[in-house]
Order: sequence, then C-alpha cells, then structure tokens
Amino acid sequence: MSIPGARRGLMLVLSSPSGAGKTTMSKRLLANDPQISLSVSATTRKARPGEIEGQDYHFVSNDQFDGLVATGQLLEWAHVFGNRYGTPRAPVETALTEGRDILFDIDWQGTQQLRQSQAGGDLVSIFLLPPSLEELEQRLKSRAADSDEVITQRMSRAADEISHWAEYDYILVNDDPGQCLHEIRSILTTERLRRERQRGLAGFVRDLLAGE
Ligand code: 5GP
Repeated sequence: MSIPGARRGLMLVLSSPSGAGKTTMSKRLLANDPQISLSVSATTRKARPGEIEGQDYHFVSNDQFDGLVATGQLLEWAHVFGNRYGTPRAPVETALTEGRDILFDIDWQGTQQLRQSQAGGDLVSIFLLPPSLEELEQRLKSRAADSDEVITQRMSRAADEISHWAEYDYILVNDDPGQCLHEIRSILTTERLRRERQRGLAGFVRDLLAGE
C-alpha cells in the first residue's frame, strides 16, 4: 500500500509494432484501474471506422497540428506512416501533479522525447514484442482496418520499431494477452511504490516514529 493521496503520478508508455496487442492491453488496463487515464494524442491521420474524436485521437488538420507545435502545446511529436502524431502537454502535467498516472500509446520516437523531457523521471516504459512476425502479420490482416499496401508498410516498419526494444525499461512478449496484462499491472503496482513517487513518505515515517 502506498501513502494515500501523496503520490506523484507516473507516465506509463506502452510501445510495440502495430498489431502486437498494444491497443487491447491499453483498453483492458484502463477499464479496470481508475488511477490511470489515457493520453489522447493529436494526429493528422484520418479517423478509421469506429474511432471516436476526443477518445481515440484528436483528429486535426495539418495547419492545426502546425499550430500545436508552434505554441509548444505538444510534449512530443513524430512522423509515423506519413502522418504526424503528438501528445498534448497540459493534461499530462495536470495528471502528474494531481498524483494520477497517464498511459501513452506512442512509438519509440515519442518515448525518446519524453525520456529527454523535464518529466523524464516520471517515465516507465514497456515494449511489447509479438511472439513472431507471422503472428504479427496475421493480426494485422484479421483487423481488416488497413489496405494490403498499408499492411506491407506496417510490417516493414515493425522491424524498425522492434530495433528500439533496448531503449525500454521492460520488455514483454505478448503470446498470452491475459498473462501480458497481468505483467503490465504488476509493473505498474511496483513502480507506484517506488520511494521517490511517494511524496508523503518522509512525513509519514516521521509521524510513525513519533508514535502519532
Ligand atoms: P495508429 O495510426 O495505428 O493509431 O498509430 C500508429 C503509430 O503511432 C502507433 O505506433 C502509435 O503508438 C503511434 N502514436 C500514436 N500517438 C502518438 C503520439 O502522440 N506520439 C508518437 N510519437 N507516436 C504516436
């Protein structure tokens, strides 16, 4: 148990090549943990069927994205598959100060930028590996969200994304989604208990020793 209300929030990054189960893991994690919420990215990519504005992404024009960059409203941003994606700064800063955690579904480029940012100490990064490339391709095809051309692009980008695995704190192979989710939750529980995240600890221990 951590000291109630006295914790600094953490930034949990989940990266993987498309199709390695990251979105499913994020949704399941968020559904059962009220202390963590999703950072909703801005993107210049068009919405896919079923995606909801403000929930999956903030879908913006190129000009709007330029504006977000120019006014420093993004904590990080990157080009991915010919589109731009970025993390709005304000909701992250508010959550961390209020002791809430934020989940990021971003790529290795964004993770690098977050690590180098002022909030780098609040970062916990997890990389999900697929059990095999065949399995990855199968998952992308069964999703049926993208054209063959886009799937080919995503497969070639998968190798590039995977090549950054060693930059992450934790590496999980997602061959069993239930087990993988359990491992992500264990990491989160452990990281929340780190001494430097428990801001009220010095006072608590002082009172403890004083017998109060
Ligand atoms: P998709 O188009 O499939 O939703 O996302 C494509 C890739 O962009 C994924 O690897 C996803 O993690 C990454 N991505 C989504 N949002 C952001 C963001 O705000 N910043 C960065 N750097 N990558 C992002």
